[in-house]
Amino acid sequence: MHGTILDILCPERCILCGEWIYWDERTGDYPLCRGCKALFLTHGTETCRVCSMELTSELGICTVCRETSFSFKRNVSLFPYRTHMKELIRSYKSKGYERLSLFFAELLLPVWEREFPRIPLVPVPPRPERMKKTGFDPIGQICHHLSRIGSIEVVPLLSRSTGSKEQKLLSKQEREENVKKAFFVRPELRHRLSKERKLPLSIVLLDDVFTTGATLHQCAGVLKGEGVQEVYGLTLARD
Ligand SMILES: [Zn+2]
Ligand SMILES: [Zn+2]
Repeated sequence: MHGTILDILCPERCILCGEWIYWDERTGDYPLCRGCKALFLTHGTETCRVCSMELTSELGICTVCRETSFSFKRNVSLFPYRTHMKELIRSYKSKGYERLSLFFAELLLPVWEREFPRIPLVPVPPRPERMKKTGFDPIGQICHHLSRIGSIEVVPLLSRSTGSKEQKLLSKQEREENVKKAFFVRPELRHRLSKERKLPLSIVLLDDVFTTGATLHQCAGVLKGEGVQEVYGLTLARD
């Protein structure tokens, strides 16, 4: 049904393919056409059961995870960080498509329900410099939708100190250095949770992209230092 008043008043192009999305085709409150939305149904390849890396010749666990010990138990990534998922995350974080947070929440919810039912989510906090500049917390925004559309408890336990650099600009070793001491438990929450003895025993860290695992490893280490026993990772994409 093309050319209605609504189309004319609120025209919108699909963020991925650029096609116009007409009102009778809208699939949610975000700019994705039905065809592009269907690209995110499944990726179906076998992945490492620790870090979610796509496996080629290895069985079960990738060669990196065989030699590395992380402080989190395992990470589940929804998709490899390439093609449509990469483009969508970039649009979300750097081009101001904040409405995609609902789409990401809709993708994450069934995976959380299947993999980590009832385990509270802890968002990986943004760099304070980024928050100051953009006023937008990409992961926090997704968590907001997750607790709204699902029965997920979100506990924003962690905070991030100023002065850390953007992880994507750094090498593996620099990433590890960069996130050391970058994360800490928010003092007001620590006090309240320990007083009420309500610190969750298991938690799931939520982040956008898993690259070397340095961020999740550091965050998990901090949470375990507070008495959390098991930490998992849930990420949109595996780079
Ligand atoms: Zn499209
Ligand atoms: Zn692995």
